Amino acid sequence: MTDTKTALVTGANKGLGFEIAAGLGARGYRVAVGARDQARGETAVKTLADAGVDAYAVPLDVTSDHSVTEAARLIEHRGGGLDVLVNNAGIAGETGPGWGQDPTTLDLDVVRAVVDTNVYGVIRVTNAMLPLLRRSDSPRIVNISSSVGSMTWQSDPEIEVGPIMAAYSPTKSYLNAVTVHYARQFAGTNILINAACPGLVATDFTGFYGRPPQEAAATAIRLATLPDGGPTGSFVNDDGVIPW
Ligand code: NDP
Repeated sequence: MTDTKTALVTGANKGLGFEIAAGLGARGYRVAVGARDQARGETAVKTLADAGVDAYAVPLDVTSDHSVTEAARLIEHRGGGLDVLVNNAGIAGETGPGWGQDPTTLDLDVVRAVVDTNVYGVIRVTNAMLPLLRRSDSPRIVNISSSVGSMTWQSDPEIEVGPIMAAYSPTKSYLNAVTVHYARQFAGTNILINAACPGLVATDFTGFYGRPPQEAAATAIRLATLPDGGPTGSFVNDDGVIPW
């Protein structure tokens, strides 16, 4: 038996997920680096290992039942258990001019693809990992959401929430709603589940516009390492609670 805690981060081969993995690794977690592309996952593991992080690659496409089941099997096989799950993998879906998604011309296949990754993917991975998480003394689940999922902010003309992203933004509202229901289901257990907005982050996702992912990873890392009795079912950013 080992006291080292293990954290699985989905979509950890680059961007925000990579920095969350690096940050948890620096705090002594063994990191299971979820990546849908095996080579990209191995490259990330090597970079993390070179920085002194105990990491291993987990092939993981969040849209595939088979891949997710195999990922859970692999983590169990590694024998380290699972203490933290960060559901980070996400896509924006195809955008139109000005990085927008006009609801009046939305392609439903785009909507389906974004929901499949950003919402169903989270449910699929969470439920597959739950048997492992339940064995931990202090299971933590962090869902990477976005303030664009705040319906309060989206419907307030005074607040600048960026372009209309009618396929992407509602997936984060949906994810926030799902997070609340998990929190209710986990009431009375030691599992804490929260949703985090990282702010605008300079990754492939934004064409590298925004703040450094190292900085943006802080809220997710804080939620992943919450003490027992910490908040659950919340939706937060660096500044505190975001309205639904
Ligand atoms: P990136 O595009 O840099 O990274 C996304 C990651 O998700 C990649 O590792 C990608 O893998 C992975 N991914 C996509 N689809 C799947 C899938 N089906 N299965 C497994 N992995 C998948 O984006 P960010 O790092 O910026 O985004 C991370 C999260 O942060 C997302 O959930 C996003 O919605 C959220 N977010 C980002 C913001 C920003 O400003 N960047 C703002 C608010 C929220 P691959 O390399 O193979 O494509």
